[in-house]
Amino acid sequence: MSKTLETKREVTSESTEQLLGPLSNEIRRHLYYTLGHFGSNGDASYYYRALAHAVRDRISQQWQRTRERFANPETRRVHYLSLEFLLGRSLNNAVQNLDLEEPVREALQEYGYHLEEVAEEELDAGLGNGGLGRLAACFLDSCANLQLPVTGYGIRYEFGMFHQHIEHGRQVEDPDHWLRDGNPWEIERPEFTRTIQLYGHTERYMDEDGIARVRWVGTNDLLAVPYDMPIPGYKNNTVNTLRLWKASTTDVFDLEEFNAGSYPEAVAAKNNAEQISMVLYPNDASENGKELRLKQQYFLVSASLQDVLAQWVKQHGDDFTDFGEKNCFQLNDTHPASAVPELMRLLLDEHKLDWDTAWKITTECMAYTNHTLLPEALERWSVQLFSRMLPRLLEIIYEINERFLGEVSKLYPGDMELRKRLSLIEEGNEPHIRMAYLSIVGSFSVNGVAHLHTELLKSGLFSDFYKIWPNKFNNKTNGVTQRRWLSHCNPKLRDLLNETIGNQWESDLEQMSKLVPYAEDAAFRKKWAEVKRDNKHRLAEYVKEHTNVEFPLDAMFDVQVKRIHEYKRQLLNVLHVIHLYDRIRRGETQGMVPRCVLIGGKAAPGYHVAKLIVKLINNVADVVNGDPATQDLLKLVFFPNYRVSAMEIICPGTELSEQISTAGKEASGTGNMKFMMNGALTIGTLDGANIEIREKAGAENFFLFGLDAKGVVETRKAYDPNGIIAADPEIRRVMELLEGGHFNASEPGIFDLLTSGLRNPYDQWVTIADFRSYIDAQQVAGETYTDQDKWNRMSILNSAHSGWFSSDRTISQYAKEIWGVQPLKA
Ligand SMILES: *Cc1c(COP(=O)(O)O)cnc(C)c1O
Repeated sequence: MSKTLETKREVTSESTEQLLGPLSNEIRRHLYYTLGHFGSNGDASYYYRALAHAVRDRISQQWQRTRERFANPETRRVHYLSLEFLLGRSLNNAVQNLDLEEPVREALQEYGYHLEEVAEEELDAGLGNGGLGRLAACFLDSCANLQLPVTGYGIRYEFGMFHQHIEHGRQVEDPDHWLRDGNPWEIERPEFTRTIQLYGHTERYMDEDGIARVRWVGTNDLLAVPYDMPIPGYKNNTVNTLRLWKASTTDVFDLEEFNAGSYPEAVAAKNNAEQISMVLYPNDASENGKELRLKQQYFLVSASLQDVLAQWVKQHGDDFTDFGEKNCFQLNDTHPASAVPELMRLLLDEHKLDWDTAWKITTECMAYTNHTLLPEALERWSVQLFSRMLPRLLEIIYEINERFLGEVSKLYPGDMELRKRLSLIEEGNEPHIRMAYLSIVGSFSVNGVAHLHTELLKSGLFSDFYKIWPNKFNNKTNGVTQRRWLSHCNPKLRDLLNETIGNQWESDLEQMSKLVPYAEDAAFRKKWAEVKRDNKHRLAEYVKEHTNVEFPLDAMFDVQVKRIHEYKRQLLNVLHVIHLYDRIRRGETQGMVPRCVLIGGKAAPGYHVAKLIVKLINNVADVVNGDPATQDLLKLVFFPNYRVSAMEIICPGTELSEQISTAGKEASGTGNMKFMMNGALTIGTLDGANIEIREKAGAENFFLFGLDAKGVVETRKAYDPNGIIAADPEIRRVMELLEGGHFNASEPGIFDLLTSGLRNPYDQWVTIADFRSYIDAQQVAGETYTDQDKWNRMSILNSAHSGWFSSDRTISQYAKEIWGVQPLKA
């Protein structure tokens, strides 16, 4: 029997300070003791992992102290709930934010390594699809930079976003087993494991005080085990937390089965539970409707809410009076919308509050961000599935709906149409729950992600709700973190900026406006152009390595990278490349500037049209690059496996940023902002944040084309793409090349679906309507490029006016206008 000692030695952040030695020793120690690596010349991946552990150790103390600051019961805290966090790599980010670059370089030198080489070994944490997931990652960075008490909550997917490779021009998906060699950044916290219930049924009963209550019983239970990742702030002694949940089985085995000799079956149940956090759904901007996806959503929500409530109870017991005042849950789209009924369930059934008190608390602390107007992306879950998997939540949703529609009837007596339109339940053969409506009703704040987007929410999709609750609606134009998307990814530009305007811009991007006068300084423009050329060189080498196509450095680097989706209109870009190719073949090259066009992005594996667009890009690339007539005037590549670490090389080397979505469809865009910061000029439509980019940069520094959102709606009423094609000889020639099989001689007919879509009067994306205007804007961009002085002036002014697009600005607005939280200074 063990005896409890009288005095325990406490482990505090102070008492561990002296444990860490010089960095080079720490690397050696981790190589030997943590990784069991012996001998001299191991591969770089061991050095990556040893260094990552050594850097993480140096974060620990600040991390612990930040947690202690957050734990103050007087602090109002924010919990950012998101099914996606597209983090990319962490090493360089941590080294930069902790100001460790010099010591790390010196330490690695002892082992004969460069930091760049070692950093390359890190696999991207690809726990997201695209813009929405990357936004969550930029937000965490800005929250840490601003020292805000915000915790991210997500899922620790075993398999992140799939890897893409191209075979015979087509996308092939490979699983992304990013955790295979371990993840040095995470720390498992089994002591905060939570139990999640699924299925079963509900029962009514009387509690000790004679009050009618409900319990959810007969459930299949599983465990949620948290893994914490550090989110270091920028040189500010703050380290915030991203808590990711992994699904696991309850360790209580089914003893009956066990006794019946079914031990292996009982153990196998473990597998079933672990499915839930196995894989990220690879659909961007389209809903899923799959049972496993709903489980993932509820799993995240229930684990995170229980986590927050447990911390609350530890400090305040069962007094929830101030809970709503001290907590805010930001819902990243409707994916975590079951947080509304789940918080109600926990407060009613577990903590025994009455409905009105629980509802007051819930609506005090939920806030919802909408990310899209596309109808195919609006989540609706079948009532039948809900009643099976989450029966207690469905009862609560019905009650929320009854009470809400009661309020509606009071406001608009007798308006049955309105009641039907606003109902959280969409009636029909198979009734569905409208998750966006549930989020609006359950939240005190509803925000869009760019000015136009929010206006369209208020006047269109959510107009009935806007009439009832105008004050709930607000705009928060997206942003990106300049620490990753400028400082880190463009060190040459960072150095030039620092020597020109100082380094304040790294935590205050508005300082970039100090560059404005330098646009007129010829010596500065020369330096600016040299930096761009170096970055083009780096990009060209990267392209050569991955596609075997040479990009000549004198050409304009014209780039479109983002998820492949019809609304983003990669097809319009390809049509333009075909147009240029046609002109070259006709010898009509006057005013044409040499161009290298790069297109990259992943298509959802089940999205047939998007995959066909990938195939078309590859086929056109083969023909264009293989035709001696194009010389160095035109190149096209499809860049495979677009991801965060690829963007870090692509955006600094880009000169022309393609932001060409159908107006009214792209909620904001954030790729557009990364390019702008790095001095690319934008060719774009009046969509999402493009509008704000053009306002900030000045209309004269932006290549605008196409219909605006209103124009798209008008055009679609009597759209005649065939008439437009017939009337414009250049457009006609492009269609003839495509339809004549010029790019698919050996596979006739494969692109018919795309060409018939372009010619369809009901084409939602009105691609042909914008084609002429796009060709003309591209011509202006090309002509501008031939005047390099003018181009560089415009490029500098774009960077100089990018201050608004820092996620620090976005997050300051969330903090002030939605969350009501203050910085907690270290
Ligand atoms: C920024 C980013 C996106 C979002 O790009 P959009 O052009 O706004 O769609 C998607 N994927 C990655 C890897 C990114 O870095």
